[in-house]
Amino acid sequence: MSEDSLPADQPLADRFGRPLRDLRISVTDRCNFRCRYCMPREVFDAGFEFLPRDEILSFEEIARLAGITAQLGVRKIRLTGGEPTLRAELPSLVRQLKAAAPGVELAMTTNGSRLTTLAGPLAEAGLDRVTVSLDTLDDATFRAMNDADFPVALVLEGIEAAEAAGLAPVKINAVVKRGVNDEGVVDLAERFKGTGAVLRFIEYMDVGVTNGWRLDDVVPARELVERIDAALPIEPLEPSYRGEVAKRWRYRDGEGELGFITSVSAPFCGDCTRARISADGSLYTCLFAVAGTDLRAPLREGADDAALAELLTGVWSEREDRYSEIRSADTEDLPRIEMSYIGG
Ligand code: SAM
Ligand code: SF4
Ligand code: SF4
Repeated sequence: MSEDSLPADQPLADRFGRPLRDLRISVTDRCNFRCRYCMPREVFDAGFEFLPRDEILSFEEIARLAGITAQLGVRKIRLTGGEPTLRAELPSLVRQLKAAAPGVELAMTTNGSRLTTLAGPLAEAGLDRVTVSLDTLDDATFRAMNDADFPVALVLEGIEAAEAAGLAPVKINAVVKRGVNDEGVVDLAERFKGTGAVLRFIEYMDVGVTNGWRLDDVVPARELVERIDAALPIEPLEPSYRGEVAKRWRYRDGEGELGFITSVSAPFCGDCTRARISADGSLYTCLFAVAGTDLRAPLREGADDAALAELLTGVWSEREDRYSEIRSADTEDLPRIEMSYIGG
């Protein structure tokens, strides 16, 4: 887009003064896993209607939106899904994003299943970093959690491939569900301690309506901290930037750090600087949003960059989301959007 099409010196902020800094782009709503907490097989079965091809944003459309949001202040873009590596020709999208939004950090969150072949091409295309989801090292538990019989060993190979391709430091995301994988958190910490990879434990969240979330299933971060500290002593670190979602801790013996994402026990909406674009081009200003703003129609109807920027600016400046802070009985029955659609 042309340099003069936007007011460059007016920082865009929402109603609570939060700037737009991070953008998560879902590149597909499909996935080769059926994690029980995200896409339970009973719902996402053979009869489930995923988005048809022509409703999904093209690479050109995604790159255009990335360029415009970069002009509005976005500093970090994360590709997600669904499983982003299922999208054909993904390195080509990375190349187009790098050209459209130079200087913006480009990351991806993946289940790691396809990294052995894709890490190299993605790094070569310009991907800066990768986060791999891995909830346990116990093979039987992992196969049951992903409900696709996918083995831990192949994800570990994918993580190694990412490191070898220079996508380091790799972050490892582990969602903890009580009675399912909480017994394995110390094993996970031990496995990645001292490797350069940064493990982050995520509290199981009430996203979507299909996973049957119950507060009892959540293991609060403070409990995880205690369990890990008892085996591998840790101490808290200061956040490195505004909007950082993980509470950072480090091993007292200097062998690296780990993080805790406390979306349920200690929400961080006050610093939430992220927007999401679904695979079919709707803009969401909160993970728990009830409705999005369609960007695809104006894109396809020929809106110019200034008009799209105005639309984005209008939505962001009206934003007053803080779902996690007001999570309560009042919000329980809202028709929330599924994580696999909106992008985690
Ligand atoms: N398929 C990719 C993956 O699994 O990394 C990217 C999309 S996935 C929706 C993004 C992240 O959301 C993953 O780390 C996943 O573990 C996390 N996630 C999914 N459902 C969740 C839930 N109910 N609570 C907390 N995290 C969740
Ligand atoms: Fe797929 Fe990721 Fe959801 Fe698991 S968490 S079902 S890998 S989108
Ligand atoms: Fe941001 Fe919404 Fe999550 Fe709060 S609940 S941190 S506003 S995405």
